[in-house]
Amino acid sequence: DQAGPVPGRRVVLAAPRGYCAGVDRAVVTVERALESYGAPVYVRKQIVHNKHVVQSLEAKGAVFVDELDSVPEGAMVVFSAHGVSPMVHAQAAERNLRTIDATCPLVTKVHNEARRFARQDMEILLIGHAGHEEVEGTAGEAPEHITLVQSPEEAEQVEVKDPTKLAWLSQTTLSVDETLATVHKLRERFPLLMDPPSDDICYATSNRQAAIKQIAAGSDLVIVVGSANSSNSVRLVEVALEAGAAAAYRVDDASEVQPSWLEGVRQVGVTSGASVPDDLVEGVLQLLQQHGFPAAVEEKLTEENLVFALPKELRRDLRRDV
Ligand code: SF4
Repeated sequence: DQAGPVPGRRVVLAAPRGYCAGVDRAVVTVERALESYGAPVYVRKQIVHNKHVVQSLEAKGAVFVDELDSVPEGAMVVFSAHGVSPMVHAQAAERNLRTIDATCPLVTKVHNEARRFARQDMEILLIGHAGHEEVEGTAGEAPEHITLVQSPEEAEQVEVKDPTKLAWLSQTTLSVDETLATVHKLRERFPLLMDPPSDDICYATSNRQAAIKQIAAGSDLVIVVGSANSSNSVRLVEVALEAGAAAAYRVDDASEVQPSWLEGVRQVGVTSGASVPDDLVEGVLQLLQQHGFPAAVEEKLTEENLVFALPKELRRDLRRDV
């Protein structure tokens, strides 16, 4: 804005925010598959839960389908970062599909934990949200052993077969605090409840929540960039409000920011979910500048350096230079 920023206003940008290692790997997987094999490359479900990412891959020749029966026999299909149940792998084999599994390794870790507890004949309370693709994939590893628990309230009600043979696991993108509350309730009722061998909520989810918590209390408004079906983005809005933000909203991009939200606001906190490209955040920061806010100051809580290798099927073919 020509007039420059209004004195006393501030924009604080949370870090870490945006792309995590699992999302980066999944998006690069589809891009490399398109380059190596040519379009179309089919992708089961949204590769990551961000509508802009999905649209840009569609423009390059990716075809997103809900189920494998929409993929022609013998074609190539990529499984999304959220993971799939063994049944989906079996369907793919039946239809002779060539598959590339872009499941985040941190989701695969939870699948492995589910299989291990099931082998020990444990009942598993899976903390997560019904209908989320990750939960469907994890539950599919041992459907007869897994019961879904969606909240601390459900933890008070859930019935188990044998409280001495019980473990819990969770979706990777939940609220850290709410999950602790759920586990606390479960343990009150079932003292022998076993923990997962390591945290299921992933580093990216926890880091993004910790970073926005630090900023939220001082903010009159928090803007979270992320899509409505992105679990970790939706959690960031809740975490910001619980941590004391006066208001918090999720937007897909700058066009969804309502000018009325900015009235009387001194500090705006900005962050983004793990599936969000940084140019969408940049768009929001530019919009704030047009409304009399200064350039953002970043508050970095921690460094993230994790990078995952591409799926092995793809690495093998890239080596052969298909
Ligand atoms: Fe993996 Fe966590 Fe990113 Fe999900 S949010 S893709 S579990 S790193």
